[in-house]
Amino acid sequence: MPIFQPEVETMPRPELERLQRDRLRERFGVELEALPEQPFRVKSELRNAYPFGLLQVPLEECVRIHASSGTRGKATIVAYTRADLAAWADCCARALAAAGAGPGTVVHVAYGYGLFTGGLGLHYGAERLGCTVVPASGGNTPRQAQLLEDLGAEILCCTPSYALAIADHVSEPGSLELRAGLFGAEPWTEGLREAIEVALDLKALDIYGLSEVMGPGVSAECLETRDGAHVNEDHFLVEVVDPQSGQPLPDGEVGELVFSTLTKEALPLLRYRTGDLASLTREPCACGRTFARMSRVLGRTDDMLIIRGVNVFPSEIERALLAIPELSPHYQLVVERPGHLDELTVQVEGTVDPAEVRKQLHDALGLTAQVEIVEPGSVSRSEGKVLRVLDRRSA
Ligand SMILES: [Zn+2]
Repeated sequence: MPIFQPEVETMPRPELERLQRDRLRERFGVELEALPEQPFRVKSELRNAYPFGLLQVPLEECVRIHASSGTRGKATIVAYTRADLAAWADCCARALAAAGAGPGTVVHVAYGYGLFTGGLGLHYGAERLGCTVVPASGGNTPRQAQLLEDLGAEILCCTPSYALAIADHVSEPGSLELRAGLFGAEPWTEGLREAIEVALDLKALDIYGLSEVMGPGVSAECLETRDGAHVNEDHFLVEVVDPQSGQPLPDGEVGELVFSTLTKEALPLLRYRTGDLASLTREPCACGRTFARMSRVLGRTDDMLIIRGVNVFPSEIERALLAIPELSPHYQLVVERPGHLDELTVQVEGTVDPAEVRKQLHDALGLTAQVEIVEPGSVSRSEGKVLRVLDRRSA
């Protein structure tokens, strides 16, 4: 499988570490050994600096603005110089190449275009690689399925929940030309990967990113192993830290992802805490890339639900649900607090006794939940970013 920039993507690790060391010193005046002593940057700093307080270049040197979705409070604004956009396009081109795309491949981008980084990020990456881009953006799901059929896209880029929504409108998955999909911007599970692969007859790959650090393409899986997303370490120095103590954790241990941007001009960040929980490996990968791989994001530090004293991430509930073959991957979690205690209701489409699901959730997670088996099609479908958790506690 061709690698887009093999000179960096397969760079021997000692050489890569030299490159990181040089860039860290040049950008922040910090030695690699001194990194763990540096303070963290956090999202609230970006929010408080709204809109342009943290820009390191004059605004007129920025050629693009994006914003985070603002689902957890006020949006954060990010900006890019021309060089920032070029680096971003390279990273997304690498991700697409790792999914088997090349010049001339038809790439259907169904991430939202606009302030959200998903659409334009993948769009320019696909152009950079020489692909033929279908800039479908989100929404109008029946038309998405029609375009996939008519234009013969081989690669689909969207959120995993939206891939499932599109699949609802595909009558014959085998009739599509789709070979692979780059799915991200939401935490998702291996169970959901399998469901999407069956529903759309393609290989589903994880792509990771966040607007504060860049956007999609900070890391992406390769088709060869689909076992962890290669972090573009020439641009991003990655650490995993204990979410409580902030101490760095060794490879293989799950903790919070922290990124330092090594090349960004407009909004460089040293040790940015993502809130995303994952682990790292620097073991060699069969694809030949030497970049470290991060596991799937297992949850977010601020996503955790506490249901009657049990700490649980929505992704753990998804994993338990998708282990039951009679359930579909369409589900919603409703959290309420009728008295003093939180109550969780799991609404899921399928054909199984709710008592059975209740028992499985309890056995797998120690979780006590109400389970409602609902009619097929009654759980609202994603139009981009899915709302899996309906939190009615504050209402
Ligand atoms: Zn690989």
